[in-house]
Amino acid sequence: MDRRTFLGTAAKSLAAASVSFTHLARADSARARRRPNIILILADDLGYGDLSCFGHPTLHTPHLDRMAAEGMKLTQFYSAAPVCTPSRAALLTGRLPIRSGMYGDRRGVLFPDSVGGLPDSEVTIADALRAAGYATACVGKWHLGHRPQYLPTRHGFDEYFGIPYSNDMKPCPLLDGESPIEEPAVQTTLTRRYTERAVQFIERSRRRPFFLYFAHTFPHVPLHRSTEFAGTSLRGLYGDVVRELDWSVGQIRATLTRLGLHRDTLVLFTSDNGPWLTQNQQGGCAGLLRGGKGSTWEGGLREPTLAVWPGTIPPGRVAMDLGTTLDVFPTCAELAGVPVPSDRVMDGVSLVPVLTAFRPGSRDTVFYYSGSELRAVRHGSWKAHYVTHSGYRDDREVHDPPLLFHLDVDPGERYDVAKEHPAILDRIAAVAALHRAAAEVAPSQLDLPA
Ligand code: MG
Repeated sequence: MDRRTFLGTAAKSLAAASVSFTHLARADSARARRRPNIILILADDLGYGDLSCFGHPTLHTPHLDRMAAEGMKLTQFYSAAPVCTPSRAALLTGRLPIRSGMYGDRRGVLFPDSVGGLPDSEVTIADALRAAGYATACVGKWHLGHRPQYLPTRHGFDEYFGIPYSNDMKPCPLLDGESPIEEPAVQTTLTRRYTERAVQFIERSRRRPFFLYFAHTFPHVPLHRSTEFAGTSLRGLYGDVVRELDWSVGQIRATLTRLGLHRDTLVLFTSDNGPWLTQNQQGGCAGLLRGGKGSTWEGGLREPTLAVWPGTIPPGRVAMDLGTTLDVFPTCAELAGVPVPSDRVMDGVSLVPVLTAFRPGSRDTVFYYSGSELRAVRHGSWKAHYVTHSGYRDDREVHDPPLLFHLDVDPGERYDVAKEHPAILDRIAAVAALHRAAAEVAPSQLDLPA
């Protein structure tokens, strides 16, 4: 079944499906029949320790903190890769980057001279939801291929407004749909303009279910913020930038409330990878976690994650269940009552049980990839680290026997306990071997010769 066939099947099965969720039984039946709007807000290079609700002492993020208080904080939620392009591909397809080819062993992300992108055969969340009648929009950074055939408008989004790759790459045009409207994009007003566009989309789409993928450009360096946010944080320029992102989240949520959509909308907030530590004060902070962007230490992939949906997600809850961005697709599919593609390996599980807090999550394993290399595996509370690398220095180290960390006791990966627990290492090795044996690695889109 190719992408087109999937979309046709999805539309038909939706018509036949009676959308009912046991967790919604508590809500009134009219609401239970209504498919929720879904807003996915992604920060770029925001660290695990960069929000006040995740413990930052001088960076105050009141809107995100309120989102945590009115919704759920997920403390063990991971991206599927420690850098932009593979992480975003995994988020939107629900598949590990090795399966879609959106990884690179020579180049970690797509560059302006890259010729590859997200293959047409991949089915995105937007494809699946649009086939089910959702209005879909992508606002912000794409980074899954800037050539026309790879743009958001070719991957299930009705509309697009944003920059096609990272803001430190040139020429960095601002696109509206598929047309450049500004080059280079004026970055100081980008967060504000993204927010305005996102609010307009919500207003225009309020009478039908919608999916908004709002992928901020910041706090990826170079850092820029509107003049109103200059000096608003004790944390310096980085803090001012995050304050504006926080403001943006407040704007989105205020719009939902104003339109009476807040009880019909799931808002999920996370980041694509950990903080860019080599940027020193201009980079973020992973809090108590070790490492950052580019590495498979926890700081590279564990993200500050929040979910809010008044009336469905209980307020003020902290979920320690394992979750990953791979799980977002199956979650959205379950909420919208559409099937996930059945002709391919999907790496996610639905987070609906976790979000509604009635059942524990079903994920028990996290695979930490860098390019096509499986560097670490978390199984339950334990993480075996086979290959460590800062991501930037020439310090790649192969560990045999692997390092072993108990992440519940030692989330900062400080105490290697491999010697005391050989049986656990064996068990994780078996999980890794099973995964490797079944994993077909697609040709890299990122390493294609420019
Ligand atoms: Mg990033």
